[in-house]
Amino acid sequence: MLNQNVLALGKKRSTIREIFEFGNQRAKIVGRENVFDFSIGNPNVPAPDSVQQAICDIINTQNPASVHGYTSAQGAEDNRTAIAESLNARFGTDYSAKNLYLTAGAAASISICFKALAASSEDEFIVFAPYFPEYQVFIEHGAGAKCVLISAQIQDFQINFEELERKLSPHTKGVVINSPNNPSGVVYSDETISRLSALLNKKTEEYGHPIYLISDEPYREIIYGGIEIPFIAPKYKNTLVCYSYSKSLSLPGERIGYVLVPNTVDNFQDVYAAVCGAGRVLGYVCAPALFQRVIARCTADTADLSIYEENRKLLLEGLTSMGYNCIKPEGAFYLFPQTLEANDYAFCERAKKYDLLLVPGTDFGVPGHMRISYCVQTETVQRALPLFEKLAKEYGL
Ligand code: PLP
Repeated sequence: MLNQNVLALGKKRSTIREIFEFGNQRAKIVGRENVFDFSIGNPNVPAPDSVQQAICDIINTQNPASVHGYTSAQGAEDNRTAIAESLNARFGTDYSAKNLYLTAGAAASISICFKALAASSEDEFIVFAPYFPEYQVFIEHGAGAKCVLISAQIQDFQINFEELERKLSPHTKGVVINSPNNPSGVVYSDETISRLSALLNKKTEEYGHPIYLISDEPYREIIYGGIEIPFIAPKYKNTLVCYSYSKSLSLPGERIGYVLVPNTVDNFQDVYAAVCGAGRVLGYVCAPALFQRVIARCTADTADLSIYEENRKLLLEGLTSMGYNCIKPEGAFYLFPQTLEANDYAFCERAKKYDLLLVPGTDFGVPGHMRISYCVQTETVQRALPLFEKLAKEYGL
C-alpha cells in the first residue's frame, strides 16, 4: 500500500502543467509559433551575460573536484556571505552568512519554512487568495499542518483584513505573503505591510507566541514604472524571507534560492537550526553547488526585465481597450483579468479554440478570473491580441 495522499498528488497534474502539455501537443499540429502559451511562468528572457561568464570562469579556474562537490548543508559560507553583503548594501541591513540557508529555489525555501515552523497538526498557516497553488500542498502534505485561506479583496488584491482578523487564532503559526504577487501582479503597499505588521504584533501579544510572516519573494526585482517596493523583513521582526533566482536571473531550471532568517526573529538560533533540520528532513541539504558560486558572483545583476514591462503595457492597454477588466499589475509577469463569463474554466476552454492558453483563476482561489503569464516574446503578445479580440467579440464586447 502506498501513501495515498502523495499517490493522488502524483497522478493529478496541476492545471498549469496540463495546459502546458496541451500546448506542446498543439505545437506539433499547428507549429510552435501558432500556440500562444500564456500558461507557465517560465522566463523567456535569457540569463544575463554575467551568469555565463561566471559559469565559465568557475569551471575553468577552480579545482574540478571541488566545483561539483558537496558544500556545507546550509551552503558554502563565502557564498552566503556574498548574498548577505548584497542585501546589506541594498537594504541597509546587517545580515551575515549565519542568517542564510541556501536552497533549491523558492519552492524548497517555502516548504522548508512550513516544515520548520509546524509543531503539530493543529498549527495553521494563513494564505491570501489569489495564491500560488503549491502553498496548500506544502502546508498540508509537506508539513502536516492546516492551510487557512482568506478570500481575495477583488477591487485591488491587497489584503482582506476584515477576514484575516476573523481567521487569526491561537493556532496561527504563520502568515504567507507574496508580493509582487503571482498571479495578480499586485505589489503590497506600504500601508498594507504596516497594517499587517501591526495586526500580527497585536495578535502575537494576545496569544503569547510568535506569528511568523513567511514572505515569498521570487519576483522582488520585477517591478514596473519605477515604484519602490518595501523590503519586508525589517518591518516585522518575525519574518522569514523565501527567495529564488529563478525569475530575477532567469534560472528556474537551476534550482537556486535561499531562506533568510534575520537575527530579529524570536529564538533566532533555534529557528535557524529548525530550518537546517527541515532541509535535512526534506532532503534539500546543499543547494546546487555550481549555482551557489554563480549567484554569489551575480548578486547585483538581473536578466533584462524591460521586455516584461513592454509586454505588460501592450497586454494591459490592448485588453482594456477591448473591454476586459483588469487591475494594473505593478510587478511579476502576470496579468489577472476577469473572465468574460463567470465560469473561468469554460472561458479558458473557449480560448483554446484560438490556441490561447490561459489558466483559470479558480486554481489560484479566485474564480471568474484568468492568469495570463506574459514572460513570452513580445511578438507573441502582439500576435495574440487580435485573438483576444475575437474571443471578446464572442461575448458581445
Ligand atoms: N512562489 C511563487 C509565488 C512562484 O510563482 C513560484 C514559481 O513560479 C515559486 C514560489 C517557486 O519558485 P522556484 O522556481 O524558485 O522554486
